[in-house]
Amino acid sequence: MLQIAEGVFEIAVGFVHVHLVLTDDGVVLVDTGLPGKSRTIERALGEARKTIGDVRTILLTHWHADHVGGAAALRRRSGARTVAHAIDAPVITGAVPMPLPAVQRTLARLVTGKPEPVMVDESLSADGPVSVPGFSAFHTPGHTAGHVSYLLDRADGILFAGDAATGGGTKVRHMSRTLNADPTTARSSVAKLAALSFDVAVFGHGKAVAGGAVERFRDLAAR
Ligand SMILES: [Zn+2]
Ligand SMILES: [Zn+2]
Repeated sequence: MLQIAEGVFEIAVGFVHVHLVLTDDGVVLVDTGLPGKSRTIERALGEARKTIGDVRTILLTHWHADHVGGAAALRRRSGARTVAHAIDAPVITGAVPMPLPAVQRTLARLVTGKPEPVMVDESLSADGPVSVPGFSAFHTPGHTAGHVSYLLDRADGILFAGDAATGGGTKVRHMSRTLNADPTTARSSVAKLAALSFDVAVFGHGKAVAGGAVERFRDLAAR
């Protein structure tokens, strides 16, 4: 488990990151990793001297199985509230199938496993503060139609970019075009994030940017 900032930790769950944030309102998880890997998250909670029961809120960036895979089990075991964008929520709850061609849907399940559907307790339809103090949500569509990034008001701003972009330590990159539902919209979302104010950025995939992160988003948006 890697400490990103005061009370902010990055957990590698296979090829994806889960972020654990200690707040006055209990533990917040940003995304939940692949299905069947909640032991990894449980171990990380233990390292932070917390238990699953301390998780109060699960902020989901988008419906992909590598991000929502642990949500159902974690919600069941902790009683935590789940938060996601209204556009991705019906996929997360299982009300509608994954918006992929059938072949891709099958492939996705082979790579990540099939996520258990989970209730979405707080469905976001506007940018701004969410129910957890200190966090704001920004709709950053393109990777999926309902992708959201979360901004934490701590240490000059910490952006949880999900898969809106990928991290490279000193660089920020666009997610591979083939993995974005709408690559053009995804580029606009990077420009939207570049207009915010934050110092640190963490990603679903790739190394966190530890300082001056918004400048790296501005570099990418200008290219
Ligand atoms: Zn994704
Ligand atoms: Zn991902």
